Amino acid sequence: MKLKIIGSGGCVSTPRPCCTCPVCVEAREKGFPYARTGCSLLIEDANILIDTPEDISYGLNNAGVGTIDYILYSHCDPDHTMGMRVIEQLKMDWLEVSLGKNVQNPVKIAALPTILDDIRLQRTRYGSVLNYYEMRGLAETEALYELDINGIKIELIPIDDAEHVAIFLISDVHRKVIYAPCDVKPFPECPKFYGADLMIIGNTIIGETLKGGFALSTDNPLRNELFVMEEVVEIQKKYNIKEVIITHIEEDWGKSYDDYKELEKRYQGIRFAYDGMDIPL
Ligand SMILES: [Zn+2]
Ligand SMILES: [Zn+2]
Repeated sequence: MKLKIIGSGGCVSTPRPCCTCPVCVEAREKGFPYARTGCSLLIEDANILIDTPEDISYGLNNAGVGTIDYILYSHCDPDHTMGMRVIEQLKMDWLEVSLGKNVQNPVKIAALPTILDDIRLQRTRYGSVLNYYEMRGLAETEALYELDINGIKIELIPIDDAEHVAIFLISDVHRKVIYAPCDVKPFPECPKFYGADLMIIGNTIIGETLKGGFALSTDNPLRNELFVMEEVVEIQKKYNIKEVIITHIEEDWGKSYDDYKELEKRYQGIRFAYDGMDIPL
């Protein structure tokens, strides 16, 4: 199985527009991997993309992606879905359309039933954006809990009974990977997670000192929504997970690509994602 981080950035990508902090200045100067697009992952040997942040096309071009057959969604939050127009960029050929020809091989869009309904609510004056792409033949949608492609099984595990957020369990005969990009606190109880080879997780405040020297107090409300590093280590231990990669890295954490490389030395079995990162398994 081969995975690739397309976007390792958070709700706010790096560089943040108009920001003159050292991290953004360096990212603007050096580009990838100092720059980070919004959070997304590619399951390379099945041509599956998970999530489409608004800067997804930059991420896909940087990672040299050749084919996308499926787009899966983790939840409907804008930082994971607002690049949905990539469907049009992948599939629309206005020249062919001008000759009356239809689109071949529409991209398949899949998610938990509730999440697909959530995404259909995103609309313009013309109605639901996703319905429009379906109507134009650019996309086909499917509500599902499990998908098997090229010997890779992808299970979409709802984090709670409301089923508005999914964690992905990606496995083949050799390996098992948890992908939990966003909105996964509290982390769900799931026996299937035990003994995973890898967990790629977002949702984490990284470090004690953040952008501009901001010190995170013990009662800061961000802690209710996001994990801190110690909590990720706890999840890793609890489920006996061999390796962890932290993604969805916010510009607010105030750290550069080099800072994360340095920070990795403090943790056993934990690395930090960057755009274009290859993860052979
Ligand atoms: Zn900045
Ligand atoms: Zn997010």
